[in-house]
Formats: sequence, structure tokens, C-alpha cells
Amino acid sequence: MEERRKIRCDCGEYFQEGKAKVQGHYLSAMVCPKCGEKTFTLDQVKEGKAVLEMHEKLDLKKKISKVGNSLALLLPEGIKKLGMKLGTKVKIEAIDEKSFKVIKC
Ligand SMILES: [Zn+2]
Repeated sequence: MEERRKIRCDCGEYFQEGKAKVQGHYLSAMVCPKCGEKTFTLDQVKEGKAVLEMHEKLDLKKKISKVGNSLALLLPEGIKKLGMKLGTKVKIEAIDEKSFKVIKC
């Protein structure tokens, strides 16, 4: 695993890996366990930008459609950014009683 340089907070404590809420989404960040100050490493900024871009392209409300006897959910164009295309195999996994996720196999 990559050795990370410790970043010290203004309060004197060292930042630890955690999450920060940005534009309503929780992103990887460095969080001070003492005062709660948050900062981002360069890698976290890059990852966070990509995650926010995906939310922008994919987060939307959709209606369930019917195809034959099956129910269908049409995926937005932005899904192609994840390498999804016609014929891509996916796994559907329940998260809780109201949500599920689609994982590219
Ligand atoms: Zn602090």
C-alpha cells in the first residue's frame, strides 16, 4: 500500500482518512479527529471530481417501464462513462428495502 504523508491540522492533530459532504455527496477526504476540519489530498480531489461528475450524469428520477412481461429501467446516457454498453453483464445487488446497485461484472 502507498505510504501517505501525514498532514497536520491547524489545531495540532493529524488528519485521518474520512468523508466530507460536498454538493450533497459524501466524498473521501482527510478529516481532523479533534476539530472536524476537512481537507483533500490531490488524489481525493481527482476522485471527488470524477464522483461528482458521475452523480451529475446519472442521478435522476426515472419511471419503471414495461418490456414484454418484464419491468425495465432505462439507463441514462451517462452510464457509458462507466464502460456500460449494450450486452455488458451486470450484477444487481440489494442495498436496503428501497435501493439497489448495479455493478459491472
Ligand atoms: Zn483540527
